[in-house]
Amino acid sequence: MRKLTVGLLVLFTFSAASLADETRTNVIFLVGDGMGVSYTTAYRLYQDDPATTEVDRTIFDDMLVGMASTYADDHSLVTDSAAAATALACGVKTFNGAIGVDSQHNPVDSMLDKAKRLDYLTGIAVTSQVNHATPAAFVAHADSRQSYDKIADQYLDLRINEKPKVDLILGGGQAHFIRKDRNLIKEFRALGYSYESNIKNLSRIKQLPAIGLFSKLGMEPALESSNPLRLSEMTEKSLDLFHNAAKKNPDGKPFFLLLEASQIDWCGHANDIACAMGEMHDMAITMIIIKRFIDKNPNTIFVATADHSTGGLSLGAKGQYQWNASNVKSISATGPDIARQLMANKSNWRTVWQTLTHIKLADDEQKTLDAFINQADENASDINVSQVGTQVLAYIDKYTATGWTTKGHTGEDVQIFSYGKGKQNFSGAMDNTDIAKKLMNYLNP
Ligand SMILES: [Zn+2]
Repeated sequence: MRKLTVGLLVLFTFSAASLADETRTNVIFLVGDGMGVSYTTAYRLYQDDPATTEVDRTIFDDMLVGMASTYADDHSLVTDSAAAATALACGVKTFNGAIGVDSQHNPVDSMLDKAKRLDYLTGIAVTSQVNHATPAAFVAHADSRQSYDKIADQYLDLRINEKPKVDLILGGGQAHFIRKDRNLIKEFRALGYSYESNIKNLSRIKQLPAIGLFSKLGMEPALESSNPLRLSEMTEKSLDLFHNAAKKNPDGKPFFLLLEASQIDWCGHANDIACAMGEMHDMAITMIIIKRFIDKNPNTIFVATADHSTGGLSLGAKGQYQWNASNVKSISATGPDIARQLMANKSNWRTVWQTLTHIKLADDEQKTLDAFINQADENASDINVSQVGTQVLAYIDKYTATGWTTKGHTGEDVQIFSYGKGKQNFSGAMDNTDIAKKLMNYLNP
């Protein structure tokens, strides 16, 4: 067994006193994008110490309460992140690609809309662009998730009581908020929002409203980031800001917070197991931070789920009755990052490979990889990275016995995790729209 390290997140400032308003419940909703059941099993084995016989439980095991179906309203039975996000945000089934609109393309209210109308404090913290499909469905309305600039505009332009809907916005997406045709950050500042552009300066955000966009598009993958626990850090900051705001306000406003471990899905699309486990670790630490907050502020409900699964991840592949968790644990970079580093060190790529993966390749495999690396041109174009990266990931899958069935999503049910006030409401089998409806019932005048 191994104790999870919470990294540098030791400055835990929540006071023992709970938030002032005991009649209204805080709601924290965390989406693990693409996090099917095999991801939480893989994470349990990944974080376990192989030196001991028993497998340690994870925070996912401790909070597991139910299962949810995820299908979209378009007969495909396999949802995309937009339709699933609209289901989770608004309680409405819709077509793939839809952001906050129903099957007839009519805008529908999200739980964040409801919370804001009831004068809750509201926040979003994600590791993708803040206007990516999942968070977008809580704020915006669009027929296409690809309308990124239009969706970003709505974060400022759609108002409730004359103010933007979201008091705290943390994640990536500078490219969509600071554009030639419009500088939304300037406009947010004019409305009293503070702005930070570097996650290292998260501590500079002292009060609401605030916006922090820490990358042009999505934030760096956990395995490539100098802040691998960035969702955990943003979550801790959000809870701290809400807690302090409630303390200052004599009425004590409750809050609604949407969190997303956005990039589990991206690692799944890339069929990159080490990448996925890096994101899972950030999500697990995020849940530990939330649990600590709720233990001190019990008037809070927390629900986590996935919007769908991605990649058809299997533990064991090609007939093998085996999954080599410790080999996954030894890999310290994503497939594309390993490829880039191998191509940048052509003369001693074997040493670099060994350092980054700890996997010993057979002679013929070394020859194959050597040929790919040496064919790549000096400036390592994206095509070269993807060619070498594909071979790298094939060897990682082979030596970890990891399987994938698709580069897309899959339609099986996903888990529901809950903690706090009335967590039993989320137990058993339900549809993803039921999760939204039940959470909306917590939001009251
Ligand atoms: Zn996806």
